[in-house]
Amino acid sequence: MRRCEKCLMPDNLPGSDFDAANICSWCRTDYPPYEAKGENALANKFRGLGAHGGKADCLVGLSGGKDSTYALYRLVKHYRLKAEAFIYTHGGSKDFSLRNARTSCEKLGVPLHEVSLPADKHKKAFLHYFRAWLGHPNAVSAGMTCVACKHLHILGSQIAARRGIPYVVWSSTPLEYSPFLAIKYTGDKQNPYKRDGMLHSALQMGREVIRSLKFARGLLAEPHTSIFGCLAVFPNSSYLRFRFPNLTPLMFYAYEKWDPQLILDTICTELDWQLPSEIKEDWHTDCVFNIFKEYMFQKMLGVSYTDAHLSNQVRKGYLTRAEAWQKLLESKQFYAASLLPALKFLGAEDLIPQIDPGCFEVQA
Ligand SMILES: [Zn+2]
Repeated sequence: MRRCEKCLMPDNLPGSDFDAANICSWCRTDYPPYEAKGENALANKFRGLGAHGGKADCLVGLSGGKDSTYALYRLVKHYRLKAEAFIYTHGGSKDFSLRNARTSCEKLGVPLHEVSLPADKHKKAFLHYFRAWLGHPNAVSAGMTCVACKHLHILGSQIAARRGIPYVVWSSTPLEYSPFLAIKYTGDKQNPYKRDGMLHSALQMGREVIRSLKFARGLLAEPHTSIFGCLAVFPNSSYLRFRFPNLTPLMFYAYEKWDPQLILDTICTELDWQLPSEIKEDWHTDCVFNIFKEYMFQKMLGVSYTDAHLSNQVRKGYLTRAEAWQKLLESKQFYAASLLPALKFLGAEDLIPQIDPGCFEVQA
């Protein structure tokens, strides 16, 4: 396996299409396309707020991570909006993310709503699809392990609708995009990634139901979690727009430029946001289920979402290739060491013999 001379994407990944100088197709096209619309565009959007009669101008989805915390900070302090926030918790979130969310909201005087799915539905759905993936590894079952989490888009929209809040703010950043997102990966060598989401995903799921009994069982065991999670896969999906016609989903980083150092400096100073000392990287490390998402893609493709996220940052000039490589090595070690404790945490020790932490060993 070779890695791109400019970023870290490997040449065995479908679509990497290295040229003679060992540069990948994503570097040649400056993937992902991203230009923030700017503060003025966002300020214009909020002009005239306050006349809608609701209690707040916007509801901010918090993960406890740095990007959503900064979005909340800016909306309150810079755009002077009246905000409320919500956080979706599940059996696999680490305490520090909830602690950070609570502290930030307290400091900003923002009410925080804490929501979750009933009982341990999230964990059950995850384990069904992870078992299905172990039996028949592919991007469809890998993607479905996170289906329960998509309910946060529904739960957040419900709070906003109930409280008459017009905007629901989300903080995913374009630099988190991966060319091999589960929802887009087809497994077809000629045409590895699809753009058109819903119909294509439904067809792939239908195929997987026929191919894998465990996958079909997962769907039958958690039909509500699975179906509505798929329908609400994105904050602006057609289903959410149809169900909540008076709400406007707003992607904060479509407007303000994502600048990781500025974000960290601001929230650490102003909101006392902090990570536990043993956590080196702040991206998605607060979620136990994410360990398996990284694992499944590492095992299938020899590359995980972290490779794509770091490569995007190299391309956009936030990291040098050497810095990204160091972070990549640390991340692989972190996930390799986290796998077995995570299975124990989930009470799924019976799966340990089927797990291969060695796949996280990477070569330069
Ligand atoms: Zn590259």
